[in-house]
Amino acid sequence: MSRAGLRFWSAVLAIAVFLVDVLTPLEGAVAVLYVVTILLAAKTNRRDDTIVAATGCVVLTIIAYLLSHDLESIASPALRLLVSLAAIGITTLLALQNHAATKRLAAQARLLNLSHDMIFVRDRGGVITFWNKTAEQAFGWSADEALGQLADRLLQTTYPDRRETIEAGLLQTGRWEGRVQQRTKDGAVLIVDARWALQHDRRGKPVGVLETHTDVTERVAAHSALVQSEQRYRRMFDASRIGVVEEDWSEVRAALQSLDTADANVRDYLVQHPDFVRHVRRLAGITDVNPALQAIAGANGAAIFTENVDRLLGENDRNFLGALVAFAEGEPFYEGETELVRLDGRKVPVLFTITFPSGPDGDRNVLTFVIDVTERKQAQDALLAAQAELAHAARVATLGELSASIAHEVNQPLAAIVTSGEAGLRWLRRDKPDLKEVAATIVHIVAQGRRASEVVARIRTFLKKAPAQRDSLDVAEIIQEAALLVARELANDDVVLTVETEPGLKPIRGDRIQLQQVLVNLLVNAGQAMSDQPGSRTVTLRASAVDPERLAIAVQDSGPGIRPDDMPRLFDPFFTTKRGGMGMGLAICRTTVEAHGGQLSAESTPGAGATFRLTLPYDQENTRP
Ligand code: ADP
Repeated sequence: MSRAGLRFWSAVLAIAVFLVDVLTPLEGAVAVLYVVTILLAAKTNRRDDTIVAATGCVVLTIIAYLLSHDLESIASPALRLLVSLAAIGITTLLALQNHAATKRLAAQARLLNLSHDMIFVRDRGGVITFWNKTAEQAFGWSADEALGQLADRLLQTTYPDRRETIEAGLLQTGRWEGRVQQRTKDGAVLIVDARWALQHDRRGKPVGVLETHTDVTERVAAHSALVQSEQRYRRMFDASRIGVVEEDWSEVRAALQSLDTADANVRDYLVQHPDFVRHVRRLAGITDVNPALQAIAGANGAAIFTENVDRLLGENDRNFLGALVAFAEGEPFYEGETELVRLDGRKVPVLFTITFPSGPDGDRNVLTFVIDVTERKQAQDALLAAQAELAHAARVATLGELSASIAHEVNQPLAAIVTSGEAGLRWLRRDKPDLKEVAATIVHIVAQGRRASEVVARIRTFLKKAPAQRDSLDVAEIIQEAALLVARELANDDVVLTVETEPGLKPIRGDRIQLQQVLVNLLVNAGQAMSDQPGSRTVTLRASAVDPERLAIAVQDSGPGIRPDDMPRLFDPFFTTKRGGMGMGLAICRTTVEAHGGQLSAESTPGAGATFRLTLPYDQENTRP
């Protein structure tokens, strides 16, 4: 019943008793029933309610007495009045005492509510009789829901041992502690450290158990994450194919801090004090060495590695110095290349990285990663050997190219010499030899012979990559000379050569003979391409300006043209479609033109002739009009 209800019924009862007292002839004895009114009011647990009820009852009793009796006849009714008042008084006193005791208990229970732990009390049968605030919050069950329930069933507790064994231990020692698993109202699992204490009654009989539980779910999760992370690290450490050594550099740090290097910088100090560096090197203590590094070092076990570390590292003070400077300057890592001397004496080239982790425990966890690069080194050596061989082969190939080029380029003047010689002989063998013509052919033979030796000289310097002649040249002159050189050959093949030179072309810079050779090659190729062709055979040599920087020379024939399939390989050395051809002409032409800062290209419509087009830059130094 609510507080207001209790007050209401208490007042109703008081009035009822008053009415019965006044209206019936029971003579005051009924006033004893006011006791019930006071007990009802006391149930509200409010001290004031008890006092108000008691005062009300006393007043009502006296009023009823005065209404029912006049002042003369007081003897026996007054006695009854006094008894009634005494009953009311005693009841009130007891009610007030009870109230004080209840208040004290409630204050103690509130203290339990302040605890961060989940606290509840269960009786010997396991039924919950007290349930604090933290238990409400942690388990999700309100006190109303939890009270009267079986604790084990409500929380679905899982114990680390058999329940009976735990209970027996509790009865024996009065206490039990352990880690249990319980479920909240939502079904979530809590890991809980439980502490139980047995309560006894006055005669020493166990009456209940006070259970104090601390939620350690998060602590346990954090711990198990730590354990897992450590296990993962262990697995990596043990199974890695990269060598790893763990070192503690905290003493190294202390040694560096003890230095008085306020003025000088640490790097300079360390460079100038090799003894100190050697001393510090011994302070870096090895904590662990993984199997991969043991294998690299040929050490059977971490201890053997640690014992022989000086032997393994050899005199690598320079590397340690570098690492020490990096460490002192707060760098996160230091890496380099060195050689480990295996325990069997063999040297192993390795790459290494020393990491200096930050954080409070960083200095204790300096990790060095080591990779054996023996195979890579071997592969590198093999590569170098292959490169040397290739360079040699290239030299041999150049030699071949040289002889091929000489043979090719000299062929043309030789052919011209033979043609001129035969013509001279014919003039001589006439009935009346024409000595003027003979002399002309001999002059021609001499000129071609000179030319052949010049060509050989130029090709040799060209292939030696010696600087070519760099003269300022008139393009029209070069074209004229080249046309003259091949005129006889072209005439023999019935080829008509037309030369068109744009007047006023600016000079170019280069090697006269080399450029002549380019044009001679292109003209001879054009003539050869048309040699089997019936009908007209024409070659046009055209020189014109392209832009303010360059001029172009085109050699256009009316031959069969170039097959599209051959186009991509046309300028490759040794590409030829001619029987007895060498395939060097166009390759040499392109190299020559490019050496002069120009370009050589070919275009062709099969069946409608080929055009070779070369561009050359003007002479920048001497721009004669
Ligand atoms: P070679 O004359 O010894 O074959 P070149 O390098 O001078 O070597 O020429 C390579 C090839 O290019 C020739 O075999 C020929 O097939 C093709 N070629 C060159 N000039 C012409 C041309 N004017 N018309 C058609 N084909 C040509």
